[in-house]
Amino acid sequence: MTLVHNWHLGRTMEYPYFESRPEHQFAAVFNINRCIACQTCTMAHKSTWTYSKGQEYMWWNNVETKPYGGYPQHWDQKILQMLWDNGNNPMEWFTGAEDKNATTAPYGLYNGDTIFELAKNKGLNQVAVGYIPDDKEWRFPNIYEDTAASEKTNYEMGSGADKESSELPEHKRWFFYLQRVCNHCTYPACLAACPRKAIYKRKEDGIVLIDQKRCRGYRKCVEQCPYKKPMYRGETRMSEKCIACYPRVEGKDPVTKGRRMEARCMAACVGKIRMNGLLTGDYKKPDPKNPLDWLVHVHKVALPLYPQFGTEPNIYYIPPRWAPRSYLRQMFGPGVDEALDKYAAPSRTLMAVLALFRASQTMISRFEVEDGPKIYESEVMGKKVEVYNDTAIGYAADGAEIVRIKIEEPTWESDEKRMVTY
Ligand code: SF4
Ligand code: SF4
Repeated sequence: MTLVHNWHLGRTMEYPYFESRPEHQFAAVFNINRCIACQTCTMAHKSTWTYSKGQEYMWWNNVETKPYGGYPQHWDQKILQMLWDNGNNPMEWFTGAEDKNATTAPYGLYNGDTIFELAKNKGLNQVAVGYIPDDKEWRFPNIYEDTAASEKTNYEMGSGADKESSELPEHKRWFFYLQRVCNHCTYPACLAACPRKAIYKRKEDGIVLIDQKRCRGYRKCVEQCPYKKPMYRGETRMSEKCIACYPRVEGKDPVTKGRRMEARCMAACVGKIRMNGLLTGDYKKPDPKNPLDWLVHVHKVALPLYPQFGTEPNIYYIPPRWAPRSYLRQMFGPGVDEALDKYAAPSRTLMAVLALFRASQTMISRFEVEDGPKIYESEVMGKKVEVYNDTAIGYAADGAEIVRIKIEEPTWESDEKRMVTY
């Protein structure tokens, strides 16, 4: 084991390989508040990569309904339970130790064990704690869809969640959709676990791939990825996982004329909840004009999924406003309150960057905002909200302007003469 810095945790942690960050990191921000669970992303991925024999149960992209849904079933409860039952200081964060302006510890200091540390402390014959799901746990990708947690469940959670659902609007019964793909982690547990060294992380874009020539199907990656995103294919006796549509990311699709293109599941999103691109490799020097760097590092409105696992995942989420905060803090760490305050009363820049979500298939690597007139004013949770009809402009990596979009949607009213009255 070596010591590496995990900025999600605000500290160093143990990992079997040296810290090595890519030049750019494949990443995405998912705005949970906008998802309608249409599953277009799920089918876009399915029809592109996993429609063959032996891949029937593979859903590299899935959208599950929280708190009950999960694919495989109970994947997150099981890992959380392992950390909770056996780890030191489970799920404990020192938020007082946080340096809000520092990129090295933006959410505070995580004091509990990660999945790597727990395996080492317990002397397990595993690099990270984990388990291989049973066949029956992979049966229902969409189990408990749209099933809400009741007031009784909130109470039984014992976390105070029954008293604290969101303020706007008040939802005592709640659920939300969680969109899931491989996180192309900075410290992948799948890679660390593989005894064949068949899994590698690309230097140029941080995409994590399984070399099918080296894989022997030992399923160590399936066992030790806490997000359960590698899947075993009985037909070939090898493991497979999301490949981040790397030919598109490399600009091989002729549609974008050699420019980097969003992955299929991202580009298909009907709800416009997804922005896919590349983060700056050096997290200490984020580029405030890169929309993903801005959302994650500068504005901190997008948060990692289960940062306490310790893999430094690279898919980030804007949490849902209506779910209990204690549940969300467990899922996204202590940055939840600040992120939701900012989302509830969005700044002009946030409004502009949100307008760029799914505005183009080409990855946006830089954005600008042109000022427009004020069009709306209100108050949300005691905070003044002003909306301006600014213009958001997105540029590709070569500097070409690829999208220009105003905040206010143009609308037309029909001529009164065309109205029919009965
Ligand atoms: S989410 Fe799992 S499969 Fe994907 S890189 Fe991280 S550890 Fe590996
Ligand atoms: S396509 Fe978009 S809106 Fe539809 S389920 Fe997927 S993430 Fe949600």
